[in-house]
Amino acid sequence: MEYTKEQAQKLQAEFHVRWKWQIARQVLAGAAVLLLIGSEELDFCVSVLGIPVSENVVFVIGMAILIWASVTSFLHWRCPGCKKWLGQWLGPDICPKCGLLLKLPRSTPTLSIR
Ligand SMILES: [Zn+2]
Repeated sequence: MEYTKEQAQKLQAEFHVRWKWQIARQVLAGAAVLLLIGSEELDFCVSVLGIPVSENVVFVIGMAILIWASVTSFLHWRCPGCKKWLGQWLGPDICPKCGLLLKLPRSTPTLSIR
């Protein structure tokens, strides 16, 4: 699929937003896994703002975060051009389906020697 330069720039900006959300989802999913491991390994009862929270509640919250992260990743981690899923790799340079350049052009640092 061919894109004009303006279309490609707009799609790359959209991809950058999607990429930030995907990173946030991965971090939250990692925290949820730690929460789930903690709720199984330790027989703890934590207190949040003075309210006791049982390990079952911690388990349910951890699972809810994992399910949310998985579903939203499947729905939103897609090429903004062709809408195909981008897979598990977090840093694709181009869409493997339509060839859209996904990597944002980085501003080139200017070297000034005085
Ligand atoms: Zn694509």
